[in-house]
Amino acid sequence: MDFLTAATKNVLGTAPLPETLDAKGRDVVIVGGGDTGNDCIGTVIRMGCKTVTALEMMPKPPAERAANNPWPEWPRTLRTDYGHQEAIEVFGADPRMFSTTVKKVYARDGRISEIETVKVAFKDGRLEEIPGTEQKLPCDLLLVAAGFTGAESCLPKVFGLEMTGRGVVATPPGRYSTNVAGVYAAGDMRRGQSLVVWALAEGRACAAEVDEYLMGYRNS
Ligand SMILES: Cc1cc2nc3c(=O)[nH]c(=O)nc-3n(C[C@H](O)[C@H](O)[C@H](O)COP(=O)(O)OP(=O)(O)OC[C@H]3O[C@@H](n4cnc5c(N)ncnc54)[C@H](O)[C@@H]3O)c2cc1C
Repeated sequence: MDFLTAATKNVLGTAPLPETLDAKGRDVVIVGGGDTGNDCIGTVIRMGCKTVTALEMMPKPPAERAANNPWPEWPRTLRTDYGHQEAIEVFGADPRMFSTTVKKVYARDGRISEIETVKVAFKDGRLEEIPGTEQKLPCDLLLVAAGFTGAESCLPKVFGLEMTGRGVVATPPGRYSTNVAGVYAAGDMRRGQSLVVWALAEGRACAAEVDEYLMGYRNS
């Protein structure tokens, strides 16, 4: 996020890009194959990186729905987003390495120079390294886009809010109230990493619930 924020401010002309975050001419490795990783891929390509590799620890999903993933479940199929498409266009190949994570980081003269990757596979429900699959990659810009690990804990701690096992604020189903009277949660803080449309919808529904709490009735 530090990288994406700095890159956007630079494009908008509101702040110069720190030299350490400039991908121009660099071998970039991105850890994490989600939407944030995809945004990083698109951004480093537009900056003129030399190479880009994205490490995804999960196995490569199938092109079509698997038998154990029928409609109406969310399709767990391979998605090729705009960042991947730009990489294919510019470098001729999908930048993703599936079932792979970073194991070691090497530095030269105080700057990152190389990384070692290793293949991983599920064993008894846990991802484990596969010995002997280590590989070195040149890397002088390493971006960690390893996903949402839970809501920021500061405010929930201060208010004494109950959290779910997924690290977000607990609310009753379909409601935005928390275990503390007068404290409400909505958006990513309540549902975990999601989409702007959900943040908008939850913000409105939460406001209606707050209205009811304050006024004793709601206008919507
Ligand atoms: C890299 C990236 C790419 C994404 N791309 C997409 C996309 O293409 N399409 C899409 O739909 N969604 C995308 N998302 C998801 C989307 O950004 C979120 O789902 C959405 O922003 C959630 O909105 P929110 O209001 O719940 O939380 P946020 O947008 O995180 O807003 C929370 C706000 O609270 C403020 N805040 C935090 N603590 C305090 C405090 N103590 N006091 C006051 N203010 C505080 C924060 O500064 C922030 O402004 C992306 C997310 C990321 C990280």
